Amino acid sequence: MIKHSLKQLAAALAAKQLSSAELATLFLDRIEQLNPRLNAFITVDREKSLAEAKAADARLAAGETAPLLGIPVAHKDIFCADGWRTTCGSKMLANFVAPYDATVIARFKAAGTVSLGKTNMDEFAMGSSNETSFFGAVKNPWDEAAVPGGSSGGSAAAVAGRLAPAATGTDTGGSIRQPAALCGISGLKPTYGVCSRYGMIAFASSLDQAGPMAPSAEDCALLMNVMAGFDERDSTSLPREKEDYTRDLDQPLAGLKIGLPREFFADGLSAEVAQAVEAAIAEYKKLGAQTVEVSLPNMGLSVPVYYVLAPAEASSNLSRFDGVRYGHRTSDYKDLLDMYEKTRAEGFGAEVKRRIMIGAYVLSHGYYDAYYLQAQRIRRLIAADFATAFKQCDVILGPTAPTPAFDFGEKAADPVAMYLSDIYTIAVNLAGLPGMSIPCGFSDNGRPIGLQLIGDLFAEAKLLNVAHQYQLNTDWHTRMPEGLK
Ligand code: GLN
Repeated sequence: MIKHSLKQLAAALAAKQLSSAELATLFLDRIEQLNPRLNAFITVDREKSLAEAKAADARLAAGETAPLLGIPVAHKDIFCADGWRTTCGSKMLANFVAPYDATVIARFKAAGTVSLGKTNMDEFAMGSSNETSFFGAVKNPWDEAAVPGGSSGGSAAAVAGRLAPAATGTDTGGSIRQPAALCGISGLKPTYGVCSRYGMIAFASSLDQAGPMAPSAEDCALLMNVMAGFDERDSTSLPREKEDYTRDLDQPLAGLKIGLPREFFADGLSAEVAQAVEAAIAEYKKLGAQTVEVSLPNMGLSVPVYYVLAPAEASSNLSRFDGVRYGHRTSDYKDLLDMYEKTRAEGFGAEVKRRIMIGAYVLSHGYYDAYYLQAQRIRRLIAADFATAFKQCDVILGPTAPTPAFDFGEKAADPVAMYLSDIYTIAVNLAGLPGMSIPCGFSDNGRPIGLQLIGDLFAEAKLLNVAHQYQLNTDWHTRMPEGLK
């Protein structure tokens, strides 16, 4: 049962092979058994989950047939969920119980899914290894000496270890795709504005997007059908017709034009990752696709541009954590200013403080034009590079991350080395495009490798189709870590 796809789980529920409460119990038991090892969840609440499962069972008994009704899903702890502790991986919010549901959570509830709890993450979604979480790092289920990636590392590890059949994540510069790659699962970052950001704790608002994480592309399509859609409570939500993201899954790939950006296959890419990606390209050719070389000449500037813009937005967004409205407040202070300072000094970890300082600096008088404005200009050039490339191809393909999962501590002391983990993912966020990671192999020491597919604006259904056809012909996405079977 733990290896069932979402479709198979839904069929089992519909055939009354088991109830939603029994299904939730199966996964809650796995969480109880394995989470002490993996640390993928920050908050689990059996009572709450089972209450949701019983409500789903009542809907099933009444004859309702929503596609994910009764299916358990884990949620990244960045989404406010009514009555659930919502920490964003930070001491600042360690005791914060959200008083309302994020739109994404509300949609999952309406669809009848059952929350398995809140997954661990890098503090305020800043990181690529989960080592910045106040609640301790998450272990990679494939190798517990390895990081799971970040920031949605808890969601990725939960799915990879089948502590949950599926999970939500968010991606500001790679945080769905990179952990999906490092943990051997599938993950989709939608076009900016497709999933509502309402109730999703803000990091860099012009880049943040929610998306699905699950073993397969087909699962991701089903999750997208729940998550996506216009929300009047998010001013950057895009008013569009509701889509069925499964609609193109079965389209054959004959004639598909795959763009290979030469910048993705240059220095810095590990030989093992390059080899696995080459093998995937060969597989696509067998399926009838053609490849064409494209260029993204400004790609090399994406990491520096991101580390101006994202901290700028973060410094503004995180100013709300002042000890007055919610979250941590220092216990001992002289006056208001002292209270702010001590609260923030105690509540935020080192990486968050580093970003706030960079952000305040690049936005300050005298530096704004030199850094922030320049970065915005280059952001536009990066988006234009993609637009040019998509005149020559249907999707862009490359690695998700330059290396397989690295060891704990390997990059923690070197922020720039850590930032380069997202070298292939960040440009996609800067351009607002959809991107997906799917498993495409393993390193010699058994760590998963991810393949990235990038689409033009609103090409989610296309990406899911291209990923699904690959998964019909390969079995990387069905594998599970030995020790957790
Ligand atoms: N690793 C990147 C960062 O630390 C991206 C994080 C994300 O996508 N949330 O900013």
